[in-house]
Amino acid sequence: MSLDTSTLYLVATMVAAMLGAMLLFFGKQENIPALKWWGTAYLLGAASVALWTLAANTLGEVLSLALNAVGFVACGMVWNASRVFHGRKPNLPGLVLGAIAWIAAVMTLAPESSALRMTIGAGIVAIYAALTATELWSERRRTLQRRWPAIVVPMLHGFVLMLPILLGDLLHARDGAFSGSIWVTMFAIELVLYAVGTVFVIFMLVSERAVSAHRTAASMDPLTGMFNRRGFAEACARVIEREASAGRPVTALIFDIDHFKSINDRFGHPAGDEILKLFATVVINTVRITDLSGRIGGEEFAALLPCSLQEGVMAAERVRAAFANSGIVVEDGPVDTTVSIGVAGGPAGTELEVLLAAADTALYQAKRGGRNRVEAAEELPLSLENWRRKTAGIARQPQPRAGLMGLA
Ligand code: GH3
Ligand code: MG
Ligand code: MG
Repeated sequence: MSLDTSTLYLVATMVAAMLGAMLLFFGKQENIPALKWWGTAYLLGAASVALWTLAANTLGEVLSLALNAVGFVACGMVWNASRVFHGRKPNLPGLVLGAIAWIAAVMTLAPESSALRMTIGAGIVAIYAALTATELWSERRRTLQRRWPAIVVPMLHGFVLMLPILLGDLLHARDGAFSGSIWVTMFAIELVLYAVGTVFVIFMLVSERAVSAHRTAASMDPLTGMFNRRGFAEACARVIEREASAGRPVTALIFDIDHFKSINDRFGHPAGDEILKLFATVVINTVRITDLSGRIGGEEFAALLPCSLQEGVMAAERVRAAFANSGIVVEDGPVDTTVSIGVAGGPAGTELEVLLAAADTALYQAKRGGRNRVEAAEELPLSLENWRRKTAGIARQPQPRAGLMGLA
């Protein structure tokens, strides 16, 4: 089977142009700058190859050199797209360096050494492909197995383009017939595969990122920037498992701001929100970096500390004192802010639900005992089932925080 090279190149460039338009459109719609870079790169590259294929003989020396240079800039843009995608700045000198190297090579080389020129051109594209692959590779952190196409596609592209360099001697022998050689056909086919392959990779990366952004948003509280109830429970499950395997105890704290409703009533809801943010800051600044904390309800917060009950009570006392002494003043005057805290500790591997249930009972005692105080749970239910049975047996006292049970 003989393939017409020009037709092949035209098909390749049409595919690339269509993909470029699609990327550009999607990048604009979703406001993803990297996709705009990528799309523009494909459109530029496709335009330069198409023009070059259609009118190579009628274009002058200078124009065809310029077209080639645009093609190399397009390669540089693909590399910059992967930089932008990972939050890095575009590298502008790098963007044009390939084109400059190409122009310099063409101007210094004898006109008849077309194979050498081709080799240099392929080398430049291969370098950009390798840079792109490196960029994507350096982002491999979490999901390497799902990222392998991101590395393999540009690497393969670079490898195919490097072949004429690796097999330089063979090409030299066929110098005269280069434009019809098997390599040119291969490049055209490879170009299509590369264009389609990278688009596949791009969409894989974009969707992966979107999923992770949604997951993060679903576990964060927008007001305080802390974990929300769900994020807190998920993070706690991991910490409890880790501490259990090391045989270390864990302690849970539940914080409930005192008379918060009256703060809202007196100073307004926005002031209430500010106080919630301030309390979050107090908690985060007071507990250790290894401790977990979150906002699990309106004015209720929780923390999980990998330590004994005694240490947990001390940490709670620090938070209570820091908040009481925070001396908040709003437009209407000073706000007396206090918090009541229930603490419960358990041996290695105690479930979060069990800890929170016990901490909640302690919190209730702290409220009844006059607020602005820390109470520790006297005993921990052996298991959630036992605890449920036990509490079901007692004639129901008012249980204002039974809602917490749904946490884990
Ligand atoms: P106690 O000392 O017994 O805890 O009294 P309290 O007023 O704090 O208790 P209660 O649970 O009755 O009231 C909680 C209040 O928190 C009611 C609600 O208006 C307020 N609240 C819940 N979420 C938010 C929020 O996001 N922002 C503001 N500003 N207020 C909130
Ligand atoms: Mg409350
Ligand atoms: Mg309250």
